[in-house]
Amino acid sequence: MISNFYRKKLDELLVNCRRNILSVKVNENLITNAFRFALEAHKNDRRVSGEPYITHPYEVAMILAKEMPIDDISVASALLHDVVEDTKFTVKDIRAEFGYEVAEIVDGATQIEGIFENYEAKAVESFKKLMLSMTSDLRIILVKFADRLHNLRTLDFLPPSRQIRIAQETLEIFAPFAHRFGLSNIKTEMEDLSFKYLNKQLYDEIARKLKERKKERDKYIKKFIEPIEKALTEEGYKYEINGRAKHIYSIYRKMMSRNKSFDEIYDLFAVRVILDTDNKNECFSVYGIITQIFMPVPERFKDYISLPKQNGYQSIHTTVVSKEGKLVELQIRTREMHDIAEKGIAAHWKYKENIIIGERKLDEWIKWIRETIDNAGKEDYSSEQLIESFKMNLYQDEIYCFTPKGELKILPKHSTPVDFAFAIHTEVGMRCIGAKVNGKIISLDTPLKSGSQVEILTSKNQTPKRDWEKLVVTQKAKSDLRKYFNTEKRKIAEKGKEIFEKKLKKNKIHINGDDLTRLVQKLKYKDILDFHYEVSSNEYRADEIIDVIQNRSKQETVEEISESINQTDHELTSQERTYNKFVTDARASAGGISIGDGQSSVNIPGLKYDFAKCCNPIPGDDVIGYITKTEGIKIHRRNCNNIVNLYLMDSSRIVDVNWAESGLTEFSGGIRIIGEDRPGILNEITEMISKTYKINIISANVYTKGSTFEGTIIMNVHDLKELNSVIERISLHKGVIKAMRFSG
Ligand code: MN
Repeated sequence: MISNFYRKKLDELLVNCRRNILSVKVNENLITNAFRFALEAHKNDRRVSGEPYITHPYEVAMILAKEMPIDDISVASALLHDVVEDTKFTVKDIRAEFGYEVAEIVDGATQIEGIFENYEAKAVESFKKLMLSMTSDLRIILVKFADRLHNLRTLDFLPPSRQIRIAQETLEIFAPFAHRFGLSNIKTEMEDLSFKYLNKQLYDEIARKLKERKKERDKYIKKFIEPIEKALTEEGYKYEINGRAKHIYSIYRKMMSRNKSFDEIYDLFAVRVILDTDNKNECFSVYGIITQIFMPVPERFKDYISLPKQNGYQSIHTTVVSKEGKLVELQIRTREMHDIAEKGIAAHWKYKENIIIGERKLDEWIKWIRETIDNAGKEDYSSEQLIESFKMNLYQDEIYCFTPKGELKILPKHSTPVDFAFAIHTEVGMRCIGAKVNGKIISLDTPLKSGSQVEILTSKNQTPKRDWEKLVVTQKAKSDLRKYFNTEKRKIAEKGKEIFEKKLKKNKIHINGDDLTRLVQKLKYKDILDFHYEVSSNEYRADEIIDVIQNRSKQETVEEISESINQTDHELTSQERTYNKFVTDARASAGGISIGDGQSSVNIPGLKYDFAKCCNPIPGDDVIGYITKTEGIKIHRRNCNNIVNLYLMDSSRIVDVNWAESGLTEFSGGIRIIGEDRPGILNEITEMISKTYKINIISANVYTKGSTFEGTIIMNVHDLKELNSVIERISLHKGVIKAMRFSG
């Protein structure tokens, strides 16, 4: 029998299940039995913290009941999730006691656990298993989310090296996954906790400052929402309105991506209006009412109600200018949308039954996972390519485009018309020659923008071009193109094979297949196909081998022959040698390598560098170098979002760099301006810049809607100091609400 202490704990869990699980009648016996079973099974085990082990599965079940309340089976499975891993009981025992479904979920969760133990060695495998587990029963991954979250909450007791590994893995895999499923509460807590262990100092600093400003912030929010409350109440709406600080990790990312200190981040909080209504049109009416009180920034308006995000998220987003001239982010949604925003698919369970069968979006996601894994098996994908394509799908934002008939296509950000064409149909992709966006012809490499209508122009004489591989970002286009070029390559290689075999015959040389394979591999061809392909366009490659074989006496082994060929292959090895030396030297040079003195190579001979387009660094920026395989060093700003990710992936290719003294070279720097729209304001600003600073302006763009405008100016500057002083000057210009650095 269980003690009073555990009796109370169990009751607490049951209360939460009863309150939150609404789609099924909760089988309390099942949960009670699972609790007793786990308590008994783990009775001799303790956690690293010294607590009885049962606290862990209990808390995991509690997270499910509170944050992902789906059904009794998932709660029971959570209670039992570590039984097979850590005790003498087997999956069979669980099945006998609790039935097939619970046993499957426990089994799935146990298997994933095993892979993560060897995470680094088996990253690809863990991705695959994680994804496949979802396709068998989605509840496995939900138990895993809860398990990971509780482990993060109790991470203090582990040694620092494991803390960091778990935190990285969470940021890299679990948090983006949780986001995909719309589990924003879980995702947010995972991110904050991981960040805490990866950068404790900064975490503490942001947390402290947030706390310090709380009073001031609350006062500001209260004052801001007062007129909104008044208006909405007068109009008879039932609603809840609140303003809350953003989570620590998102503030950190904002500081990094905007290169700002905490004090310079203006949107530390967002105000949210939740309407108690089933009529989503009321969200738009409320938007209308609020924008009569506060001026909106038109470019910030996003309608995720008409076009929900792929994870089901719906809301109106907008930014308005407060009476004090500050920008305030605002979200407007119904209660149901809010539930889905916080609990994602778990909330879908509440509103729509049979999510796994009925919810099309989820089906598509699962279909995509299966296709990716299948393709990876068929075409020889490298492990990196597989992980890359998974990650791309986890991290990327989406854009929404339409066919001329109004059919919606959801594509990852940075998709091009070629991606769109392949999304319609493989044949359309293969034959595309151009595209019209909103009626205007654009080139195939132009990234598509959300909301565009895209018409693909085709010709039956068109075939895919090599450089398309660089243009596409979608999995489908990549895989279709790879398939096409592989077939093409095989055809071309056939010709090379004929040429080579003719030459062998002419010279009366016999060489068996195995020896030939070893020979071409020694020569750094991937395989015979690769070699034949080379020969078809370069007969000399065939002569080279034949020459060497003929000039050698018969006693020599194939190994020795290929060794000697290798030595004549100057081009390849010298390039490799340069690269290796480059990496070693770059990493060894004490103060980092120096850049920016107008030369394209660094102070290590033979090494080239280039500035990353994503963050456009200029002298004075804190920068870092990433050694690429073929393009030398890419220089990024240290806080560039991409480098934050690259750092996580492969820190061994990061090198320190610093700016050379001379400031002769010019760099392009960008400024974004938000202001009141009045005639001629952008002209005044550009004129002021070129007069006061003698700076060359490369381009200026402006967007106006309603009574505000947003403009970008790209100009040639020497360094950060100069750019900052221009920004400061623009901020003072009459009618400018905000001026800030802009990159990419
Ligand atoms: Mn566990």
